[in-house]
Amino acid sequence: MTRPFNFSAGPAALPEEVLQQAASEMLDWHGSGMSVMEMSHRGKEFISIAQQAESDLREILAIPANYKVLFMQGGAIAENAIVPMNLSSRGGHMDYVVTGSWSLKSQKEARKYGQVNVIASNEADGHTTVPDPASWQLSRNAAYVHVCSNETINGIELHELPDLKALGCDAPLVIDCSSHIASRPIDWSRVGLAYAGAQKNIGPAGLTLVIVREDLLGHALPITPSAFDYKIVADHDSMYNTPPTYAIYLAGLVFQWIKRQHEGALQGLDAIEARNIAKADRLYGYLDASGFYSTHVAVNARSRMNAPFFLPAEALYEPFLAGAKTQGLLQLKGHKSVGGLRASIYNALPLAGVDALVAYLKEFAQRHG
Ligand SMILES: *Cc1c(COP(=O)(O)O)cnc(C)c1O
Repeated sequence: MTRPFNFSAGPAALPEEVLQQAASEMLDWHGSGMSVMEMSHRGKEFISIAQQAESDLREILAIPANYKVLFMQGGAIAENAIVPMNLSSRGGHMDYVVTGSWSLKSQKEARKYGQVNVIASNEADGHTTVPDPASWQLSRNAAYVHVCSNETINGIELHELPDLKALGCDAPLVIDCSSHIASRPIDWSRVGLAYAGAQKNIGPAGLTLVIVREDLLGHALPITPSAFDYKIVADHDSMYNTPPTYAIYLAGLVFQWIKRQHEGALQGLDAIEARNIAKADRLYGYLDASGFYSTHVAVNARSRMNAPFFLPAEALYEPFLAGAKTQGLLQLKGHKSVGGLRASIYNALPLAGVDALVAYLKEFAQRHG
C-alpha cells in the first residue's frame, strides 16, 4: 500500500525510509534493549546518536569549524526572543528585513529587548517580492541584521543571501531558515547565525537547530534564561538541560537519508537541491501554463519549498480539497492569512508527489475551467 502524498507546511512529511527505520528500532535501538526515548541523554548510546547527527549535519551543510551546532527547544518562535537576548548587546539596535508573516513576527518580538529598525519591507506589495539588498537602509552599529530566508506562509525565498560586507555592513547576518534548511547549501561566509525549527524539513517538532559563529557567543543579556544562553548551551554540548532526544535521533536519520541521496552524478545535498529545483519547476511551470490557477509571488522570489496558489472562484475550494484527499493528496489548504491553497514540497516529498498533484490540478481545471 502506498502512503498518500503530504503537502503540509509543517509539521511536514518525513522520508518513508526514515519512518520505517525508526519503527524497526523503536523497541530496541542497536541491541541496547532500550528505545531511544528511554535512554539517558548522558549515556554513551545517546551521546553517540547526538554526535553522529551533528557530524552528519556539519558534512551536509559544510558548516565551518568555527561555528557551533546547538540542539535547542522552543522552535523558531522562541528564537525570535532568544536571538535578541543573546545578540542585542553587541550594538545599539537590531536591523530587520520584513518579507512576510514570519519576519514580521520576528521583529515584533525583538522589540521587547531593544530598538528595532525595519530596514526594508515588502508589506506595500502584500509580501510578494524580495526587496533588493542594495536598497536596504542598513544602519551603523547594528547588533545584527535579521532575515527570514524562506517565508513559509507567503511562499517567498531569498535565493541568494545578502553579502552584508559588500554593502559596507559589518554586522552578522541572522537567518530564520526553518522551512528550507537542508534543501540547498548555505553560504556561511555571509551568515553569523542560522536557526530553524526541525518540523518543516529535517525531523519532528520539538527540536530547534541553531548554528552560530563562535565570536557571537557570550553576549547574552543578564535576564537570558540559562537554558537559552547560547554560550551555556554550547559549553555543555547542548546538554545543559535535557535535549529533545528522540527528535535529535530522528533528525539524525534524516541527515543520513540526505547523505544517501543521488541524482545522476550528484550526491547528498546537491542531489536534494537538484530534485527540489526540478519539483518547483514542474509545479510552477504547470500553474503558470494552466490559465486556471493563479499565483501572487514575483517569479524571482518564489519559494522552492512552499507554493501558495489560488483558484478562480471561492466556491471551488471545498470540492478541490475534498477531491484532492480522495486522490491521496493531503493538507493543501493555504494559510488563513494568505488564503487559497499551498503546496509545501519539502525534501521528503518526491517528484512523483508533484507529478500526482499536477495530474490532479489538470483534471480539476478541465472539469471546472
Ligand atoms: C514554522 C516557522 C516558524 C515557527 O516555528 P515554531 O516551531 O512554531 O516556533 C518560524 N519561522 C518560520 C520561517 C517557519 O517556517
